[in-house]
This record gives sequence, C-alpha cells and structure tokens, in this order.
Amino acid sequence: MADLDIDWSTDGIIGRRDRHYAASQRAFVPYKTPLIFSHGERQYLWDEKGKKYLDLLGMNVCISVGHAHPTVTRAVEEQIRQLQHCTTMFYHPVPAHFAEELTARMPKGQDWVVHFTNSGAEAIDLALIMAQTFSGNIDMLALRNAYHGATIGAQSLTGISSFRHDIPLLGGIHHIANPDPYRGIFGDDTGAYLAEIDRTIQYATPGKLAGLIVEPIQGYGGIVELPRGYLKAAVRKIRDSGGICIIDEVQSGFGRTGDHFWGFEDHDVLPEVVVMAKGIGNGFPLAAVVARRDVAESLAKKFFFNTYGASPMACAAGRAVLKVIDEEKLQQNSKRVGAALKSVLERLHQKYEIIGEVRAHGLMLAVELVSDRKSKMPAAKETTEIFERTRENGIVVSKSGANRNILRMVPPMCIRMEDVAWVEEALERSFAGY
Ligand code: PMP
Repeated sequence: MADLDIDWSTDGIIGRRDRHYAASQRAFVPYKTPLIFSHGERQYLWDEKGKKYLDLLGMNVCISVGHAHPTVTRAVEEQIRQLQHCTTMFYHPVPAHFAEELTARMPKGQDWVVHFTNSGAEAIDLALIMAQTFSGNIDMLALRNAYHGATIGAQSLTGISSFRHDIPLLGGIHHIANPDPYRGIFGDDTGAYLAEIDRTIQYATPGKLAGLIVEPIQGYGGIVELPRGYLKAAVRKIRDSGGICIIDEVQSGFGRTGDHFWGFEDHDVLPEVVVMAKGIGNGFPLAAVVARRDVAESLAKKFFFNTYGASPMACAAGRAVLKVIDEEKLQQNSKRVGAALKSVLERLHQKYEIIGEVRAHGLMLAVELVSDRKSKMPAAKETTEIFERTRENGIVVSKSGANRNILRMVPPMCIRMEDVAWVEEALERSFAGY
C-alpha cells in the first residue's frame, strides 16, 4: 500500500473539495447532496457508506467495458511497472500497436492514420486544425444541439449555450438547424434541414467550407440521432463546398450502438476524420483523431504536440479495451440489453404522461420529460425531482439536454439482461405519481 492518507469521512470529502476546487470544477454537481463513490466493479458502483448502485452512466460514457475490469487493470499495471511515460520524441511499441489495432476497426477502403491525445476536446481541436489546413478554408458547420468539448476550439463548435462561456470564441463557425424529428424547427422534414445547409453556405460563409462536424447520436444534447439520409446528403454538400466530414464518436463509438462499431456506419458515409475519446480508455485519459492519411499529412510541416499524447499507459488500457470488447462480445451485448432497456422505457412511456419521447439505440438511451405532450413544454423541475429519486432507488443516470429535461442512460457495455429488472423497478419507483 502506498503511504497516502485518505480521509473517507463524508464531511471531510465534501469540505475539502468545496474548499479547494475552483468554481469551474466545483459547479458540475447534479444532485442536491453530493454522491461520493468509493469503488466499482463492472456495471456496479458503491458509495462511501456501502450502498450499491447500478451504473447507467459509466462516468459519462467513459467506462465502456466495466469498472475495474481486470484485463484493463492488468494491462496498465504491466506497463506502469516498466515505463510510466514515453514522449513521442522516442519510440515505444505499445502506442504503435494500438494505432494499428484501432485503424483495423475503421471501415475498409481508406488509408487511416492515428494521432493520440489525452481528451476528446484536444482531439476535436486537432480535427478542426486538420479540416482548415487540408481544405485551405476557415468556415465550419456544426449542429445547434451539439457538444464537442470545453477547449476554446471545441467550445466554439459546441452549440448549447450553457457550455459556451462569455469570451470571444472562434469565428467562422456556423450552427445549423438540428435535424431532430421531435424538437427540431422543421420537425421530421429531413429535406428542410438539408436546405438550411445550402442557405447557410450561401448566406453566411464565403461559399467555401473547411468542414462539417457532427455526433451521429448527440450525447449531452439528449440522445438525438441523425435521421437516416441526412448525413449522406449533408456530406455531399460539404464536399461540394471544399470541406471535409468530421465525425465525433466520443459517445457513440466502440460498439455502443450495437449495430456497428462506429455510430456513423449507420449512415452510409465514409468520413475523412473520426474523433474518439471516453470509452476508448475505460476511464484512462486517452483520445484519438483517426484521419485519412492525406488529410492528416497536411499537418506534416508543423509540430502538434500533446505532452501525454500516445502515452504507453493509456494506450495499454486502450488495447485492453478493444480485446475485452471482442472477447466479451460487448457490441452484441449492447444490442441485446439495449433493446430490452428500450422496451422498459417504452412501457414507461405508455404509462406516464410526463414522458414525451423515448429515444434509444443500443446502449444510448433517453427519456424526454414534458409537462404536456402536445406543447412539448420541457418539464425541467419534475426531471430534477425524478432524477433525485433515481439515486435513492439505486441507479445512476444523467440529467441532460439544453433544457435539462432528459434522463440519459449510457451504461457500461457489460450490463447484463439480469440488470434490466433492476432498471425497470428503479424507474417505476422514480416515476410513480407522475
Ligand atoms: N465530444 C463529445 C460528443 C463529448 O461528449 C465530449 C465530452 N463529454 C467531448 C467531445 C469532449 O471530450 P473531453 O471531455 O474528453 O474533452
């Protein structure tokens, strides 16, 4: 045991954090009183008092193969004993193996290369630089309900106002209408959303684009999936204007949708750049930009360095994650358990008037709460009450969406069929009376 003192008292933990964290890191507390976790195992978590929870959030989609997965732990332990860090000035086999294994997961027919970073936002920034450098253009299109990260570049691409700070963000970024059949301004008229792209290019840009960035299924936006046919047609317009397609797979990647390894594979599109993070490392700080070789090659003349990018420790975790996804057939599991969870949500939808819509694809699931199904008025206050109850009933979910009226579930991909009854019971008890 390392000789580090840890005070596990509830008051000590809360007091120390409140006293020493900056406001920017203190703010993100969803419950009325703090929830403290002491340990986890696969899809379960325990708080400091020993209460067990079923984790339907996976630490914000980071825990892909399960908490404290022994294969991941072993891979990192072995690496950490040999060498904790190796800067990219020097060669090491582990990150290069991982790059090879990661590109093997990409669709065939394109020569893919990898740049490892530490966080999704860093990877988004690099993808943006690649799009601008490769195309020679500046302007980018992004969706209004998007979340792409907190760095200035990623924040500029993010549409949701609560994530954008009062600072001069990047110019040349245009947020286009979100193709959301439930809440979007053109309803389910995919053609109207596509026409808006034409108008934006014609009336808000020099007529030339660096690219388009999209999440195949918006995560923080509340599990909003791109309608079929939208992306393919949108990408054609972007390429006609000189730009490239960047796909943000930070939440939807690694088999979570059940149907494919990547969310974009549902849309018959081959992007130039794919950004991945979170589940890639099962909690280890790791992210990647996977790009078509010629697009990445446009940066060959300039240095782009993330100190911990391509860390052997994080890449060992990443390799282990890929291995576990295969060995435990977690993509297939996501499809099976995801379908069962979707049925649960649909049953609740029948029963509780407050649920306006159920959205689900594999293990990306959400219910959107409204005070009236016709007007679709967001039921933010009730969402907060029901969210508090989910905690009391032993499940961890997230309150998401620009209107804070969506309960989002993105559990570790190792969640089992046996857990579905727990979810149903906990949600039933949480919704009772609404
Ligand atoms: N893209 C998406 C879709 C995300 O959900 C996030 C993080 N929530 C990011 C990018 C940014 O990743 P990070 O927080 O690792 O910088």
